[in-house]
Amino acid sequence: MKYLDEYRDAATARKLATAIAHATTRPWTIMEVCGGQTHAIVRFGIDTLLPPEITLLHGPGCPVCVTPLEVLDQAVAIASRPDVIFCSFGDMLRVPGSEHDLFQVKSNGGDVRIVYSPIDALQIARENPRKEVVFLAVGFETTAPANAMAVHRAKEEGIPNFSVLVSHVLVPPAMEAILSSRKNRVQGFLAAGHVCTVMGYTEYEPLARKYRVPIVVTGFEPLDILQGVHMCVLQLEEGRAEVENQYARSVRREGNVPARALLSEVFTVVPRKWRGIGEIPESGLGLAPAYAAFDAARRFRVEDHTAQENPECISGLVLQGVRKPQECPAFGTKCTPLHPLGATMVSAEGACAAYYKYRRHEVMATPRPASAEGTGG
Ligand code: SF4
Repeated sequence: MKYLDEYRDAATARKLATAIAHATTRPWTIMEVCGGQTHAIVRFGIDTLLPPEITLLHGPGCPVCVTPLEVLDQAVAIASRPDVIFCSFGDMLRVPGSEHDLFQVKSNGGDVRIVYSPIDALQIARENPRKEVVFLAVGFETTAPANAMAVHRAKEEGIPNFSVLVSHVLVPPAMEAILSSRKNRVQGFLAAGHVCTVMGYTEYEPLARKYRVPIVVTGFEPLDILQGVHMCVLQLEEGRAEVENQYARSVRREGNVPARALLSEVFTVVPRKWRGIGEIPESGLGLAPAYAAFDAARRFRVEDHTAQENPECISGLVLQGVRKPQECPAFGTKCTPLHPLGATMVSAEGACAAYYKYRRHEVMATPRPASAEGTGG
C-alpha cells in the first residue's frame, strides 16, 4: 500500500537497527509519548530490534487512558437522561467509569451514538431540535481542532441544543511533569507526530533546554520510530539536547496555524486531572468564556462530581513509564479487555491493551538476543 509499505520495509528496518546499535555506547532510556507509537512498537517488535542498552518506556499519550474517571461518570450521568442523545467516538464506550460505562447506558436504553466526527454530532443536533445533543470531546491537541470547529459552528448557527463535555489534555505539560518527577528515568523523548502536526514543536524547545533532554518529533510507522530512536540516540551520545523533526513529511515547526488560531479562540488553557496521574497545572483545554454556553458539564450540573479510582489499577505508573503493563498484578487475570479495571486495557492506544493483544507478556518471558547486531545485520 503506497505511503504505508515503504515505512514498513524490513531491510531498511534492519539497517536502521544496526545504525542504532553502532551509535550506542551505553544505556539510554527513551520514552515514546504517544500510544499509537506504543502499539506500533509492540505490534512490530521494534524494541526487540534495539540493542539491550536502549530501553523504551511507554508514555502518557493515550487520550482515552488519561480521561479522568470523573468525566466518564459525568458522561454516564448525562447519557442516561431521556432528553439526551449522547455522541462519542467508539473507543470511549467501553472505558470503565466508577460503576458503569457508556455501553451499559446504551444497553439500558440510553440514546448513545458512535460518531466519527464532532461535526456529525452537530448534524444530529440540527436534525433533533427537541433533544439535547452532547459530544464527548476528549483527546490531545490532535482532536481538539475538530471539536473547536463544531462548537464554533454551533455558536455561529445558533444551535442551542448542542453542547460538549470537554476533557482535552496537552502534551508538553505532561512531559514536563514526567521530567520534573523524582521518579523520572526518561533521558530522551520521541514526541507525538500528529500532535505536532497541529501545534508545531516550538513548545518543546524550552523543555529540551531546561531539562537537557533530546526531543525528536516522530511518526508512527516502524521506520519512523526506528529513525526517531536513531536521531535521539545520536543526540544523547553527542551530548546534545535539541528538538529535531523526524516527521517532516507532516510536521512544520509552526504547526497548523489556522487550527491553532481556532483552538485559541474556542478554548482556554486550564488545570486538568489526568486519570491515574492526578492534576497537572495548565495541562488541559476548557471552553473559553465566550463559548461557556456550550459546556455540557455546566448545562447538566455535573461539574462537581468526584470519583475514586480502582486501587488495583496501576495505570498511572504505566502511563508515566514507571511500570510496564505486565508488572501489574491484575494484568491478564483480573484485568482483560473484556473485563477491564483501567482504561489502558481497553483503549486502542493503551499500553496494557497493546501488551495483551500482541501477547507481549509472553514474548518478554523469552530471552532477548545479547545484541541487535544479530538481528539487524
Ligand atoms: S493491567 Fe489493568 S489494572 Fe493493571 S494497569 Fe493495566 S488497566 Fe490497570
